[in-house]
Amino acid sequence: MNLKRRTFIKGAVATGVLAGVGAGSTNFFFNGLKETSASQAVDTQIFQNACPRNCFDTCSMLTTVEDGVIKYVEGNPQNTYTNGNICVKGNVYPRTVYSPDRIKYPMKQNGRGSGDWERISWDEAYTEIANKILAIKEEYGSTFPICLNKYSGNFDILRYGIEGTMASLGYHSIATGTPCWPAGIDAQTFDFGTIVNSDPEQIVHAKHLILWGVNPAWNAVHSMNFIEEAKSNGAKVVAIDPILTNTAGKAHEYVQIKTSTDGALALGMAKHILDEGLYDLAWLQKNAKGYLEFFSYLENNITVEWASEKTGVAVDVIEKLAREYATTKPANIWIGYGMQRHTNGGQNVRAIDALAAITGNVGIKGGGANYAQLDSWGFNYHAMVMEPPEGTVGEANRPINMNNFAAEILSADDPPIKMLWIAGRNPVSQDPETTLIKKAFHEMDFVVTADLFMTETVKLSDIVLPVTTPFETPGVNVSYWHYWMTYNERAIEPLYESKSDVEIAMGLSEKMNELSPGSCTYPTSGDMEDWVGKEFNETLLESFGLNDWTDLKDGPAKMKNKEVAWENGDFRTPSGKYEFFSEEAENFGHHPLPVYVEEMQAPSNYPYRLLTPHSKFNINSQFQNLDWMEDLHNEPMVEIHPDLANEFGIQAGDLIKVHNEIGYVKAPAKITRTIRPNELVMYQGWFKNHDYNVNYTVKAIPADMGAKATGMPGISFHDNFVNITKL
Ligand code: SF4
Repeated sequence: MNLKRRTFIKGAVATGVLAGVGAGSTNFFFNGLKETSASQAVDTQIFQNACPRNCFDTCSMLTTVEDGVIKYVEGNPQNTYTNGNICVKGNVYPRTVYSPDRIKYPMKQNGRGSGDWERISWDEAYTEIANKILAIKEEYGSTFPICLNKYSGNFDILRYGIEGTMASLGYHSIATGTPCWPAGIDAQTFDFGTIVNSDPEQIVHAKHLILWGVNPAWNAVHSMNFIEEAKSNGAKVVAIDPILTNTAGKAHEYVQIKTSTDGALALGMAKHILDEGLYDLAWLQKNAKGYLEFFSYLENNITVEWASEKTGVAVDVIEKLAREYATTKPANIWIGYGMQRHTNGGQNVRAIDALAAITGNVGIKGGGANYAQLDSWGFNYHAMVMEPPEGTVGEANRPINMNNFAAEILSADDPPIKMLWIAGRNPVSQDPETTLIKKAFHEMDFVVTADLFMTETVKLSDIVLPVTTPFETPGVNVSYWHYWMTYNERAIEPLYESKSDVEIAMGLSEKMNELSPGSCTYPTSGDMEDWVGKEFNETLLESFGLNDWTDLKDGPAKMKNKEVAWENGDFRTPSGKYEFFSEEAENFGHHPLPVYVEEMQAPSNYPYRLLTPHSKFNINSQFQNLDWMEDLHNEPMVEIHPDLANEFGIQAGDLIKVHNEIGYVKAPAKITRTIRPNELVMYQGWFKNHDYNVNYTVKAIPADMGAKATGMPGISFHDNFVNITKL
């Protein structure tokens, strides 16, 4: 199917749109619709795109372009997960593309943090960056003083070109790990051998569904259709969460659990299942290693009463949860990412996995302990994997913990870190310990950031490079949740002087080699579609049923034979079985069994836990800065339970200072019973016009797991304790 078409539309035409681009108008496109003469022709084309943000849904989209200008974006119905819809964030994509706030040209800041930016040419930018890299190599004898910090701002496969840029310069320092989900990945790796969730469209077959610490009504909206269908098919839906979320509001039953005690609830349920003889012995005998040791642990250490005390969930509720879960097959658990952002987070996930395993709910249609998957990511990573130049010093890159970035770049020596390259990240807004992050940026010799907007991180950079949106450069995208792959077409020409990461890499390589021949191995030319093609291999094509990658131009493709995770019992653990007892876990310093690890307790001077989850209006620091999002959600708040508000004499709208020993953040109060009395909620994100950053109070406390799968432990974002003052 050729999605491009040329039509002549009579009547309403988006005049003024193109003029708006040049003028930097805030009104163009959506406010620029005018009636024109019936004879005026409009060239309308529809392009395939993908939403590459750090979102479960990775939507396949259709972009309608009139006369070279994006008119609107909608879901592509060819993808049965996206099914013709996109969320509020996807709907505002035209506001991203045509935002007057976009970084339009390379710019240089005269004095880091001064705001005194001057426009420079790409050649000047490349020259300045290349000279700095060469000077560092000259002074320190290697490129290790250069550190790349790149992550999830855009998950398109060609965006890995920035890793390629660095690789082609030589071994360097690189921010390693992920802030999002590593403890859970390790947990599932110890249990199953890796992360593989069933196709989320399979949720419709569940007869019992536990949404455990996940809020798809806000953050994976397309799954709600499948959840609703499961309900229509007779499934019972239970939501377990410290916050009464919109998702919980749509469940049959909501269980409000004390934060970070999810493992205790899972183990209490497992103990009741054991006591009642509701486990699936045949499945365990065939598929599992160490279940007897796990049962022994439960017998000797766990009671439902203990679990009730820990979790704040009544004994009879735990027993009923356990009984219904164990006796209603297929039973499905969707495990969210918040619960693993704790010092006991990985163990929480292991305990929940164990529930699915003891009841034989693994490997069956509609069942599973579903967390995430990376099986659809089998690309060549051609844009990323580059040979270092001849004579490169060292044998491998130097890993820097992304989750303790500020402290590690400040303390690195032999050689020290002198230059940062930031791409697809906004660490000054999103990383813990904001004050220390700012200090670290100020102590660098040179900071380059590639971004769309003047973020808090760009503000602390020396050079900013304007990057393309997904609509301006080709690429290809897959999800860490569903099994679809989408080709991302160039729908419009790059606006202003923006370039893709691969184009930036090629331009820098040309300049490096001009100034110092042989100093950079990145190719200096290439067609962007050819770059897409080089990402594919036979195995990947076959797994998606494609003869050639260009088949994707006819529409998104879905991975074959992946409906049910672990259907064949082909676990990827060392034993080939589901491992209750994991020597791998032991090797990484954990208990080999899914045991309970005590949750962090609030210190007496900071008695309230501050949760900083995702809002529905942003993905990390993306989207919230756009004008429409400001209209929808213009003021960040601190959510507080009425009991706590009463204690402090706080009324709705009163300004509150939320503080601890490393910083503070101020926001008006929103009084709500959706949260626990001794907890506060502030949604993370970057608001363009607010001095609001929850990470001023968040410390870089490592989560228990993550080092095996991602190279570094996760981060305990939700083990964050504060006090409050009414202002
Ligand atoms: S943010 Fe998520 S749900 Fe929204 S358009 Fe992008 S991928 Fe789809």
